[in-house]
Amino acid sequence: MRASRFPLFTSKEIPTDAEIVSHQLMLRAGMIQKLASGLYTWLPLGLRVLRKVESIVREEMNKVGALEVFMPAVQPAELWEESGRWEQYGKLLLKIKDRHEREFCFGPTHEEVITDLVRRQIKSYKQLPICYYQIQTKFRDEIRPRFGVMRAREFLMKDAYSFHLDQGSLAETYETMYAAYTRIFTRTGLKFRPVQADTGNIGGSVSHEFHVLADSGEDAIAISDTSDYAANVELAEAIAPPGDRPAAGKPLATVETPNQHTIEEVSALLGVAPEQCLKTLIVEGAEGGLVALVLRGDHQLNDIKAEKHPAVATPLRFASAERIEQELGCKPGSIGPVGLPIPVLADLAALYTADFICGANQDGKHLQGVNWGRDLPEPQRADLREVVAGDPSPDGKGRLHITRGIEVGHIFQLGQKYTKAMDATVLGENGQPQVLTMGCYGIGVSRIVAAAIEQNHDEHGIVWPEPIAPFQIALVSLNMNKSTAVAEASEALYRQLTDAGYDVLWDDRDARPGVKFADIELIGIPHRVVVGDRGLKNGTVEYRSRRDSANQEVNLDQLIEYLR
Ligand code: ATP
Ligand code: MG
Ligand code: MG
Ligand code: MG
Repeated sequence: MRASRFPLFTSKEIPTDAEIVSHQLMLRAGMIQKLASGLYTWLPLGLRVLRKVESIVREEMNKVGALEVFMPAVQPAELWEESGRWEQYGKLLLKIKDRHEREFCFGPTHEEVITDLVRRQIKSYKQLPICYYQIQTKFRDEIRPRFGVMRAREFLMKDAYSFHLDQGSLAETYETMYAAYTRIFTRTGLKFRPVQADTGNIGGSVSHEFHVLADSGEDAIAISDTSDYAANVELAEAIAPPGDRPAAGKPLATVETPNQHTIEEVSALLGVAPEQCLKTLIVEGAEGGLVALVLRGDHQLNDIKAEKHPAVATPLRFASAERIEQELGCKPGSIGPVGLPIPVLADLAALYTADFICGANQDGKHLQGVNWGRDLPEPQRADLREVVAGDPSPDGKGRLHITRGIEVGHIFQLGQKYTKAMDATVLGENGQPQVLTMGCYGIGVSRIVAAAIEQNHDEHGIVWPEPIAPFQIALVSLNMNKSTAVAEASEALYRQLTDAGYDVLWDDRDARPGVKFADIELIGIPHRVVVGDRGLKNGTVEYRSRRDSANQEVNLDQLIEYLR
């Protein structure tokens, strides 16, 4: 591709409405353009990256025998009424009416449509298991679209759905998919981590998310320091933007009280107002768990259900966040994660704006309250660790700590939630109709592009992992319009490199070297080859890797070898 025919819409200005670096860089590099809140046009440069991610995903899906389909984006209301999600899905669902006043939605996900397809297509157990997938635009009317394509309203998802005669077959495919996801994220060149996850409003039992690790990630992940244990803390909506996070402080007071203390007693001991403490004392037989994190201010939180929380191994018998809110008469969404061990909450309290946390000790016999002061320096947090030392992790190995991630993939063992509700059966071996068992597997294809930048950038711009870079090599010609030697050598090199299979952006523009170099760094091309008169006199070009600051002189005729 010649840059003279491939306009680079680069800009030096940091866009004021872009909070995180990937959003800023995608705009500055001219990858995307905003149309309206949560709606983005992919410009040619951005689309090249999106398509590369997409083809990695497609190749790995095809490898495991998933069959590509392409379903409508607009879906009839009747299907969602059958599954019960027409009401349940809430405001994320964009509902629309056609000219006959029939109701439709713009698909945020496709469990209903695929279940309808399968109940009409698949008749016998002999056709099972079967797995379909598509790569398609979804629409979710997100409450706070932000961070560009990271949390957009319209975005590109790969969604796959598998159907089985029994749970054993589902578990097998789930494992195959887990392995395929591991290959996909390995191939994109990103640092990632699979974690246990909540199943949210999709439903089902077993579930894992794949997270690209990045400080700006919206999700908090609890990771054990000594074992493989990792789980999502599901704080997705709760985060304060990185800049707003309070400095860590130290507990002003900690108390241990016998179980069943009243809120008034604990608050008196801690020296905080009872209304700050919440009635988290509705802990019932808290074996191994914690209670609630009280947040200050107007934080929006996911409705986190204590009894399902992935970071807690034993099912807890706590009230849900909503119930606690009702009892206390506080605003819906003001209560944070329920059911986490104290060390996790301590970290969360430091990350967010908790004034106070309280909960039950591991032995279930004591209630512990911690008044978390944020005006004290970091080293003193050690005090809190002392207080909570001895609280194991959920799998009994090591201690949990919190890191941040960007959810780029999510797989579920759904079981029969949709197939039962929608009566999707096949004839079993005994000739009797049998309800299908189902799994579903999502990847945020467009989100991966932003996540990759969040993880790979420097002060000059994006630093693409090679497998998803828009171009692999930038061929920069200096003063080409004045030097025939440069023009001829560049043209020959361009041919040679493209023939060798490289994606090359040939910067043949009539622009100052500094401008060209800045653009190439900003858009993050992994390899840069500079052709200039000075080098050509010695038969060399200049090579520099995007991850390096030093140039290498390379003989023209050895360049291809060198790049390998
Ligand atoms: P999140 O927790 O970030 O809201 P989700 O759990 O609602 O995501 P899923 O229903 O699991 O999302 O959808 C599968 C994948 O689609 C997610 O893992 C994520 O990568 C991607 N995705 C979901 N919502 C968005 C969005 N608003 N913008 C871009 N990608 C998204
Ligand atoms: Mg969501
Ligand atoms: Mg999620
Ligand atoms: Mg998810």
